[in-house]
Amino acid sequence: MKKHLIRNLAAMAVIVCFAFALPETETQKINVVIDAGHGGKDFGAKHDDFLEKDIVASIAQKVKELNDDKEVVIHFTRNEDEFQQLTDRVETINSIKPDLVLSLHINMTGKSDKSGMEFYIGQDVAQNQKSKEYAAKLSNVMSDRFEVAPVKEARFYILKNTEAPGVLFEMGFLSNENDRQYLTSQNGQKEIASRIVNFLKEIE
Ligand SMILES: [Zn+2]
Repeated sequence: MKKHLIRNLAAMAVIVCFAFALPETETQKINVVIDAGHGGKDFGAKHDDFLEKDIVASIAQKVKELNDDKEVVIHFTRNEDEFQQLTDRVETINSIKPDLVLSLHINMTGKSDKSGMEFYIGQDVAQNQKSKEYAAKLSNVMSDRFEVAPVKEARFYILKNTEAPGVLFEMGFLSNENDRQYLTSQNGQKEIASRIVNFLKEIE
């Protein structure tokens, strides 16, 4: 009886040791900054009462709500409808030192038949390779449901000046009727957000 107890205690001690040893690798957090473009007096693209700044803020909020992965920590550059200089956004991002910056935008063009998603990464920046990898993954997560353009390089201020890998994601065209209906609907916003959440689960 006593022998059994000792053996059981020894076995338990081993289990306890492993239980404490495991979290080391499991608590590796992924920090992601979601940069909802525009805000305040800068409303971005506009069609009737639909404003880019509101759509991107709403999708950013849904990403945070839908994220159930404790290892993915989501930060925002703005929490409300406020105007922010790009320099301030970059400063916020660089102080967080995230693994990824995802800048959310909605496109606008004079050609109303143009639709679909676009992905931009910085040109000639040190973190280009990692950004390219993330953009490809994000595009892949969207591609079975949405029209996606090939990943492009651009000299956007946010991408150029943040030290972390970054993707600027144009989620559709406000100037296109189908895209607009989708982007301004609760279901459409939720679907895009949940796909972003799935993408965030995949990155490392
Ligand atoms: Zn924009």
